[in-house]
Amino acid sequence: LPKNDLASQALDHCIFPIIDAADVKRDGPVVIASGKGMTITDGSGVDYLDMISAYTRANSLGYGNEEIAKAVYDQLCKMHYAGTVSMVTEPMVQLAKSLSELRPDAGLSRAFFVSGGSEAVESAIKIAKQYQIGSGKKPHAYKIIARWSAYHGATAGAMALTDHLSVAQTPDPRMPGVSKIPNPTCYRNPFGMGDEEYAMFCADYLEQQIIHEGPELVAAFIGEPLMQANGAQVPSKAYWQRVREICDKYGVLLIIDEVICCFGRTGKWFAAEHFDVMPDITTMAKALSAGYAPIGAVLTRPDIADAIDHFRHVHTFSGHAGCAAAANAVIAIKQRERLIPKALENGVYFKAGLVEALGEMPAVGDIRGLGHWHAVDFTSNRKTKALPDPKMVKGIAEKMRSLGVLVGAAGTAIEVAPALIASHADFDRTVAAFKQAIESVSKDYDI
Ligand code: PLP
Repeated sequence: LPKNDLASQALDHCIFPIIDAADVKRDGPVVIASGKGMTITDGSGVDYLDMISAYTRANSLGYGNEEIAKAVYDQLCKMHYAGTVSMVTEPMVQLAKSLSELRPDAGLSRAFFVSGGSEAVESAIKIAKQYQIGSGKKPHAYKIIARWSAYHGATAGAMALTDHLSVAQTPDPRMPGVSKIPNPTCYRNPFGMGDEEYAMFCADYLEQQIIHEGPELVAAFIGEPLMQANGAQVPSKAYWQRVREICDKYGVLLIIDEVICCFGRTGKWFAAEHFDVMPDITTMAKALSAGYAPIGAVLTRPDIADAIDHFRHVHTFSGHAGCAAAANAVIAIKQRERLIPKALENGVYFKAGLVEALGEMPAVGDIRGLGHWHAVDFTSNRKTKALPDPKMVKGIAEKMRSLGVLVGAAGTAIEVAPALIASHADFDRTVAAFKQAIESVSKDYDI
């Protein structure tokens, strides 16, 4: 198809997720023709610096990586897929072993593979419930506690744990047994507490919720190590330490959902490492294959896996050999190029640049993040931290796009989360575009 026809053909034949249908019809989808490194090129030949990793954060090694493509190609030619039940392939076993070695102190040496983040969360829920029953510890436990504003996916079970965005607003019934508690947020919270006071309130709330639900019925608590709602919410170490303590006290399994944080996004293989917290079960996807193949995983400890004598769960593409080959190549590249520690250093550099350029701007309330995931949170009044006009936030992101830099609007904040190959020059350009966009857009608002 000629490139300029693609957008209209897409409107005729594709369904677009999350976004208002009227907006897509008005603006048309952006046809992306190619990508190399940090840059994507649209159908009219316009280049964009992708500082948001293809919006989903999956693209953690940039575009056009031939090493990963070749690893997948070679594997597909040799043995593309051996089914799921009782057969294994070399890349799948290699991947399971490598994952357990990335954070050996956590003892998460058993892996189950899936095709993405939501399936990883579904699998985690099933492991938690089947463990509680299989081990005989809590034979009737079916309840899961999740958090306000959480995002855990769009399939039925994962959506029940989700409290964020339009996926949580559909009218169909939810998986029973899920309750939600407050989550620690930075800068603003509904009770006007200080960040740390609020974080500890949220952690203590978990204990009250477990008691309220009946400890013998609660199988697990799930949380993202850093939450995405309103941009890169970095909690304190004390929060996660207290959550771990409470889970241990009541025999509640701790599921840490690393789908968006894992594999270097925050400058560690797993974001939970920042908080010295060990999950009982952890989920991952997205950057696991740097977006080169659809794969997710759930990891747990042998004592948990072994208590389940018959895991009642399966997906056709679990352990797909080509996807596992992509993930193995991604691990090899990230290790060889030392991209994870570099991401931590880059984060310090980027944050300093943001603070210097934007820190005193009247529309900017907070600048936070870790590694390759930062957010600038906006306000219409720095003294009162009043919410910004959502049109202003969107307008700033759009202005940055017109300056050739892609970032993501997330509620009151704009997020920057580039691939791990982003250079200091890419960060500098982003800071400059941010400053120009805020100056140009915020003057139309009464701040
Ligand atoms: N969990 C978290 C923390 C996520 O951020 C996401 C997606 O953004 C998911 C689960 C769902 O992953 P997927 O979209 O691959 O199903």
